Amino acid sequence: MDEQQAARNFSPSGSKTKAAAAIVQEIEAIPAPEENPEPMPSDNFDADIVVIGAGPGGYVAAIRAAQLGAKTICVEKEYLGGTCLNVGCIPSKAMIASVERLQHVKHAKAFGVKLECEPTMDFAEMMKRKEKIVTTQRGGIGMLFKKNGIRHVEGFASFVDKNTIEVTGKDGKKEKIRGKNFLLAMGSGVIWLQIPGLTPGRENNVWTSDEAVTAEFVPKSMLVLGGGAVGCEFGYVFNGLGTEVTIVEMMPNLIPFMDEDLGKELGKLLTRQGIKVKTDSGLERVERAGKGWKCFIKKGDQTEEVEVEVILLGVGRKAMTDNMNLEKIGIKLHKRGVEVVDETLKTHVDNIYAIGDVIGKIQLAHVASAEGIVAVTNMVKGENKKMDYKAVPNCVYTIPEVASVGLTEAEAKAQGYDVQVGKANFRIFGKAMAIGEQDGFVKIVGEKKYGEVLGVHMIGPHVTDMIAAGVAAVRLESTLEFMAETIHAHPTLAEAMMEAYEDAVGHAIHKM
Ligand SMILES: Cc1cc2nc3c(=O)[nH]c(=O)nc-3n(C[C@H](O)[C@H](O)[C@H](O)COP(=O)(O)OP(=O)(O)OC[C@H]3O[C@@H](n4cnc5c(N)ncnc54)[C@H](O)[C@@H]3O)c2cc1C
Repeated sequence: MDEQQAARNFSPSGSKTKAAAAIVQEIEAIPAPEENPEPMPSDNFDADIVVIGAGPGGYVAAIRAAQLGAKTICVEKEYLGGTCLNVGCIPSKAMIASVERLQHVKHAKAFGVKLECEPTMDFAEMMKRKEKIVTTQRGGIGMLFKKNGIRHVEGFASFVDKNTIEVTGKDGKKEKIRGKNFLLAMGSGVIWLQIPGLTPGRENNVWTSDEAVTAEFVPKSMLVLGGGAVGCEFGYVFNGLGTEVTIVEMMPNLIPFMDEDLGKELGKLLTRQGIKVKTDSGLERVERAGKGWKCFIKKGDQTEEVEVEVILLGVGRKAMTDNMNLEKIGIKLHKRGVEVVDETLKTHVDNIYAIGDVIGKIQLAHVASAEGIVAVTNMVKGENKKMDYKAVPNCVYTIPEVASVGLTEAEAKAQGYDVQVGKANFRIFGKAMAIGEQDGFVKIVGEKKYGEVLGVHMIGPHVTDMIAAGVAAVRLESTLEFMAETIHAHPTLAEAMMEAYEDAVGHAIHKM
C-alpha cells in the first residue's frame, strides 16, 4: 500500500481507528525487504568512510577523513598504531635509543665525565621503557579518534559485498557495517623464511622482528639474516648489548636499496663496532646445536660454519589480505598485495581504495600516511589527486644513522643524466667534533644541464632528522647553486650539507 492509498483510508467520514488498524494489518503483511548489495542512498550507510586497519596509514587517513567532514569508522583487529607503533618503527627506535645512551655513558670519559663504575644495561628496564612509550602513543591515537568523532571498532573485517563488511570481535561477536567507501590499510606481517633445517618460532630461538622487539633475554650470539634496515638496526641493538652479531646479506653491500657508498660505509662502521658483516653471502642451511643453531653461510663456493644462540630473520613481509573475501568483491591482488589502478590509489572496485604496506609499493610508515591522505581526499572530495613518490625519505636508525632521498648516483646515471656529485665528510666540522661524532659524510647527486638536485644521501650523526632539508630540495627541484648559497647555521651538522652542495658545483670551502 502506498502513502496515497493510506491517506484515502483516513476519510473524514470513516472511523479513524478502523482505518489505522487496516494500515497496521497491511504493513505487517509486507515481507521484510532483502538486503540490497547495490549502492544505497547515503543515509543508509553507517559511515561515509570505513578504514580497515589503524596503522600509520589507516589511523592518519581516518583522522583526515573526519577533518574533511566524513562520518568515519576505523576497524582494527589488534592494536591502534599497527606494525609501526606496536612492533616496528617505535619500539625498535626506543631500543636503539637505550643502546645509544649506554654507549654515550661508556664513552663519557672522553668528555671529562668521571665514572665510578662500568655502566651496564638493565635489559628488563630497557624493555619496560620501550613498552611504556608504545602504550602511551597507542592511547594518544585513541584520544585523537575521540576528538575527531571517529568510531573505533575492534575486530577482524571481511567483506560481504562492496558496501558491507562483517567485523568479528575477539569474543566472536559479529557486527555488520555498511560503508559508502572503504580504505584498505591492513598493512603487512612477518614471514618465517624457509631455510633447510630451520624450525621457526621463539621457543626454538628463531626470531622475526616481532620476537626481537619483545625479546625476553639478550642472546650470547645471533645471526641476523638480511642486511636491510631491519637487520642492521637489530644488529646494532644486540651488538651494543653484548651479543656477538653476524649479519648475512645476499647483496654486495648492506642496505642495498640505498646509494652504494652508504652501504659500504655502514658496513665499515658496523664492523668497527664488532659486528661481523658477511655480504655476497647466503644462509644455505642450518642444524640444531643444543638450544642454538649451527649455520652454514655460503659465499661463492666457500661455506663457513657459525654457531649462534639465536637466528633473527630480518627479511620479508607479507601483505595482510587473507580471509577477507577481497577477490570475491572484485579486488585484484598481485604478488605483494592489493593492486591499485594508479597513483590515485583506487582499487579495481570504484568505492574502495588501498594504501600502505598492503599495496606492496614502498613499505614505510610515512609513505602509508601520505597515501592515506591522498586516498581519503579523493574519496571525500571526489578528486583524482595522485600520490607523488618523487621525494620519499628513506632512513636507517643505526648509529651512525643513514638517510637518503631521491636518485642514487647509479640510478641517476642509468636514467641518462649527466651527473655531478658533491661530498663532505662530517669529520672536518666543529659541531661533529664537539659532540664526538665525526664518522660519515653527505653525498649530493645533481645533474649538469640545469644543476638540479636529484638526490641527497647521508650517513652520520642525526642525519635522519637532517634529511628533511634534502627532501625539500629534491621536491622543490632546487639547484645545487641555490642550495650552496642557502645559509646554514654555524656550528651545525647541517653545514656538511651546504659544503657538499658547494663541492658539487666545484667550490667547496673546506676541501684540502
Ligand atoms: C621492525 C620494523 C621496524 C620498522 N621501522 C620503520 C621505520 O623506522 N620507519 C618507517 O617508515 N617504517 C618502518 N617500518 C615499516 C612500517 O612499520 C610500515 O611500513 C608501516 O607500519 C605500514 O603502515 P600500514 O598502516 O600500511 O600498516 P600496519 O602498520 O601494518 O597496520 C595495519 C593494521 O591493520 C590491521 N589489520 C590487518 N588486517 C585487518 C583486518 N582484516 N581487519 C581489521 N584490522 C586489520 C593490523 O592489525 C594492523 O594494525 C618498520 C617495520 C618493522 C617490522
